[in-house]
Amino acid sequence: MAIVTPVEVAPGARRRLALASPASLEPIDEIEVASREDVARALAAARKAQPAWAARPVSERAQFMWRALDLMLAKQDEFLAVIERESGKPKTDALMIEMFAACDALAYFAKRAERMLRPRKQRLHGVLALVKQLRLVPRPLGVVGVISPWNGPFILSLNPTVQALLAGNAVLLKPSEVTPRSGALVGELFAQAGLPEGLLSVLLGDGETGAAVVEAGVDKISFTGSVTTGRRVAEACARQLLPCTLELGGKDPMIVCADADLDRAAGGAVAGAFFNAGQICFSTERVYVVDAIADEFTRRVVERARALRQGVSGEFDLGPIIWPRQLEVIEAHVAEAVEKGAKVLCGGRRNPQLAGLYYEPTVLVDVSHDMKIMREETFGPVLPILRVRDEDEAIRLANDTRYGLGANVWTRDAERGLRLATRIDSGSVCVNDMTMTYGAFEAPFGGRKESGVGFVNGPEGLLGYCHLQAVLIDRFGGRQTAAHYPYRTARTAQMQRIMRLLWGSRLGRWLA
Ligand code: NAD
Repeated sequence: MAIVTPVEVAPGARRRLALASPASLEPIDEIEVASREDVARALAAARKAQPAWAARPVSERAQFMWRALDLMLAKQDEFLAVIERESGKPKTDALMIEMFAACDALAYFAKRAERMLRPRKQRLHGVLALVKQLRLVPRPLGVVGVISPWNGPFILSLNPTVQALLAGNAVLLKPSEVTPRSGALVGELFAQAGLPEGLLSVLLGDGETGAAVVEAGVDKISFTGSVTTGRRVAEACARQLLPCTLELGGKDPMIVCADADLDRAAGGAVAGAFFNAGQICFSTERVYVVDAIADEFTRRVVERARALRQGVSGEFDLGPIIWPRQLEVIEAHVAEAVEKGAKVLCGGRRNPQLAGLYYEPTVLVDVSHDMKIMREETFGPVLPILRVRDEDEAIRLANDTRYGLGANVWTRDAERGLRLATRIDSGSVCVNDMTMTYGAFEAPFGGRKESGVGFVNGPEGLLGYCHLQAVLIDRFGGRQTAAHYPYRTARTAQMQRIMRLLWGSRLGRWLA
């Protein structure tokens, strides 16, 4: 059952997609797909609006963010209804992942963008410091294409858009075709906040529209989605010499040390794996638990996993898998693991009680590192637990992956936690917590290896929407330039003397 299906239209008419709910499989919506021409029109409008926007002080741009925040707080139930309808996620997931994080992102960047984007003086080194001074001026890039996925359809559309706008850019936003209205809320929000016309356009559609945005002639792409599409986007950007930020998939490891608080760790494993039904890029996707505590830890995890409730309405803990093809991936990973000897302690199948795309919270043991469940992104409510001899083996296996997004380590010893964290090759690590680093907006969030390129948060993320222009200016009204004609032998010899003096002696090296 597909939840996004093409609608038959008259020849020459715009393409249309019909949407069904992943929770009930009932039809819920239909969208018109933005064409290449629509994207070109949006780009022209963005180009027209952007210079005046960039000329405004950052503090003025921030006022629009505060207004958007006020509106979001006032309309949160309306927004939640849209997100819940498209994704089927429980209200608490929608609130935590989408609305709460969105409010926090708006306030965090609105409050700090002016400081982060302030031009700054940078001390020069050596003799250069005597004659020149350096200013670093963050300049907007122009128009940014934001392409977002279906798992956090509102926050992952909003956060890059907010940062790109604050940095003085215009935005073309292309939300996922699986959850288009949730992404489109970002456009509605800023329109109501009075954002100048043309500065932000939302282009609904599928991969074709996304590709049209990438090829439209924008100045940067901020992409969040799968490794496969991310690679395609990166290739298209490379061809155009276009900067891109890629926030891609993950296979986050969890390491449980012998001294971990077992209750806390078991709770963390369950929340890390089953939050948003496991559809979080930095969900806990595999656990390495040291032998001494493995049985007790696993018992507590299974007890908690069995208590989770799936549902369509009212109070429930886990929603459906939002995209049918992802459900097939989950089923294939579990089936292969079982075939190779893994044991299912709970779940391991679609929920037979529910009509929608529900996969039961699943815990697996007796897994090995040649199974897909330990190597490829499952992106569902499945927690494989592997028993290891010690922490060294856990680290070795944690790093035996092509991903490097997040990780979490559980120990009562903060020093050990930090030591182990810095041995894991991932973009971020939580000690005694999970899935927190995206919400700590100070933390630059980005993946290593195939998990991505660049950062989305922190000053690094915001500055990623700028070109840091270096301006060298005279000090003390100096008249010298770096080189001048005519070249003379005496001057060349003088340069060589200076080189020896500067870098050939201890005093010189200290001054350099
Ligand atoms: P996806 O790659 O299928 O789609 C992402 C977006 O790209 C959609 O809007 C889609 O329409 C668009 N798209 C498809 N083809 C395109 C093309 N050729 N050119 C341009 N755009 C194109 O990803 P998804 O299935 O929607 O999302 C799930 C994936 O996203 C998971 O792998 C997850 O780990 C990842 N993700 C990563 C982060 C992060 O911050 N690292 C956050 C959330 C999700």
